[in-house]
Amino acid sequence: MGKIKSIKAREVLDSRGNPTVEVDLVTDKGLFRAMVPSGASAGQHEALELRDGGNRYMGKGTLKAVRNVNEIIAPKIVGMDPTKQVDIDNLMIEIDGTENKDKLGANAVLPVSMAATRAGAAELGLPLYKYIGKLFGADATMIPVPMCNVINGGKHAGQENSIQEHMIMPVGAENFREGIRMVAETYHSLHKILKKKFGAHTTLIGDEGGFAPKELKTVEERLDLMTEAARNAGYEKELVFTLDPAASEFFKDGTYTVGDRKMSGGEMVDFYADLVDKYPIPSIEDGLAEDDWDSWVEMVKKLGNKIQIVGDDIFVTNTKRIKKGIEISAANSALIKLNQIGSVTETLNAIRMAYKKDWTTVVSHRSGETEDSFIADLVVGVNAGQIKTGAPARSDRNAKYNQLMRIEEELGDKAKYVNPF
Ligand code: PEP
Ligand code: MG
Repeated sequence: MGKIKSIKAREVLDSRGNPTVEVDLVTDKGLFRAMVPSGASAGQHEALELRDGGNRYMGKGTLKAVRNVNEIIAPKIVGMDPTKQVDIDNLMIEIDGTENKDKLGANAVLPVSMAATRAGAAELGLPLYKYIGKLFGADATMIPVPMCNVINGGKHAGQENSIQEHMIMPVGAENFREGIRMVAETYHSLHKILKKKFGAHTTLIGDEGGFAPKELKTVEERLDLMTEAARNAGYEKELVFTLDPAASEFFKDGTYTVGDRKMSGGEMVDFYADLVDKYPIPSIEDGLAEDDWDSWVEMVKKLGNKIQIVGDDIFVTNTKRIKKGIEISAANSALIKLNQIGSVTETLNAIRMAYKKDWTTVVSHRSGETEDSFIADLVVGVNAGQIKTGAPARSDRNAKYNQLMRIEEELGDKAKYVNPF
């Protein structure tokens, strides 16, 4: 087997113009590059994203993380076999020695981990998704149904106390390529409606490529326009809606504030039950705050048989928190974000834990993204069947959708595209 010959990190920019870390890892098979994304409505329990502080980039510089790769990680990992993913990741976890990667930063560990996965795939002559399937123990044939965030709210759109993500999901499409076409046509149809009703300025977009009109204040108004857009595009039957309220962002002192409504956890659950009755919504992520476990349990009791209840900030792709969620039945699905936990191995372990209890997983981008399309291969590699990576607009989002079209083409007849609900 080959060896890792060199590892070099540098500071580059993400989709919001903030610095992030890119790593080039070289083996005999070539140069393998990976970049890390960054959240805005990040969970409090995520692994540390190391920032420099000071004046550079308003304190968001990543030179310390870059140095940690070049000076601490690289000397230890160079010389290792790139197919030894678990050993590579475990060694970095050991060097860091903290619970949350507080010493090295998840933004130092993760790009090395991802670049090593790419190098490992090349070593075995496999496409990345197949290699991840091999690491995970799956046949890697499921092309996910995308959840596409066509209306951005909350932190991704400079709005307070509003639902963050309003997504459309082409569950009735024959395959991914057709699904993404339905989504793009519906997105353009929504553009047309917004422009006509509220003016061209309402078609300006948020962090994840969705429209961000402040004129649409309530979730009902937003879902009504999405319904109209789906109908105009001719896909009312094929599309369903999903939500990520990102409720930690509007939770304070035991109260949830959505627009001018103030609600308890129980009232939030009733609010969602009402929405699920009125609209085709089979999935809600982070309907409740990251540490409001009791309300999560209440939501599962009330809606768990009807819809997918996805934990993002509550679980942060961390097996300890997912384990607790499983034990007390606080959800039935886990969102998966590599940089919440900080290595490929730990991410695969989180997915394994979810599957063991028949939970679903949804692989996800971050609101601050890069052109790296690793998650497209990851979602196929583990047969997760669902991905959320923004609107079908802006190349940081479409890099993932485009890669999924390539993978679907390569898999040909073997590709499975399945309605998860
Ligand atoms: C999310 O909350 O699911 C999300 C993608 O947002 P962020 O990356 O800002 O945490
Ligand atoms: Mg979320």
